[in-house]
Amino acid sequence: MKAFSFYTEKGEPRIGIDTDNGRYDFTRIWEFFKEFKNFRHAPSLNFLQVMVELEYFAIDTFEEVLQTVRDFRSLDDVRLRKPVRYDVPISRPQKILCLGRNYRAHAEEWGSQVPDEPIVFSKLASSLLPHEGVVRIPDGIGRVDHELELAVIIGKQTSRVSAAKAMESVAGYTIVNDVTARDLQLSDMKKRHPWTLSKGFDSFCPLGPYLIPAESVADPHALQMELQVNGESRQRANTRDMVVPIPEIIAYISRHITLVPGDIICTGTPEGTLPIRPGDTIEATIDGMGVLRNPVAAA
Ligand code: MG
Repeated sequence: MKAFSFYTEKGEPRIGIDTDNGRYDFTRIWEFFKEFKNFRHAPSLNFLQVMVELEYFAIDTFEEVLQTVRDFRSLDDVRLRKPVRYDVPISRPQKILCLGRNYRAHAEEWGSQVPDEPIVFSKLASSLLPHEGVVRIPDGIGRVDHELELAVIIGKQTSRVSAAKAMESVAGYTIVNDVTARDLQLSDMKKRHPWTLSKGFDSFCPLGPYLIPAESVADPHALQMELQVNGESRQRANTRDMVVPIPEIIAYISRHITLVPGDIICTGTPEGTLPIRPGDTIEATIDGMGVLRNPVAAA
């Protein structure tokens, strides 16, 4: 089961699900369910985020709702038959935290060492971009690179958790492209300035298309990932090569920063980060998570 956020032809925000039996407008199904169960106060719109925030994002929830509704009406009229316009699965995260140099070969391609302790920086929620959204590159900023990464979506409030218990905090996973204004980042590093600007441009955080429930991912450290530009393979790696694995990332961050549902953690990029230019099309994929496709244009 894969969940996603989308807009109807009238521009109404909805959530959808892909199941073995087809693709449905889950917001409509939820409306039927609410009516049937007399849940007058349950949220309707944008509730992929709400479900995560309520710690209610689980395959069981979706299945229970689907089954209940299927028992009293047909789902045929809420089946999604046409392509949809996607939104990011989590549109207003409180935080987007990212790992730097978390794949050895990527650190080495930039002449760097893997750090002793994780490098944690943040991206801005205003840089989020959905599947099929356009990465916009302003004139005169020099080199801009793609960075394919596995994104972890936090599903419960987490503070000072041990690595052994950290995975209980994960709601699910998706694909992220940590687009980086590389020349600006390198000059900021020389000046000992932070990376906020070079990582935070509008449209520099493509995310999605799906939110994959944690239960559907047997081992997040055994996922093949690939990024292509115009059909040419640029990054190909496996999440097993992460230096600091997900439980330790969560334990490390939560020592100092309280994680809340909907927070996004970008787990670092493997080798092969290369420039993108207006006219390019980027396609990022991770096992079982679909394809995150974004064209590139001049801003
Ligand atoms: Mg990165």
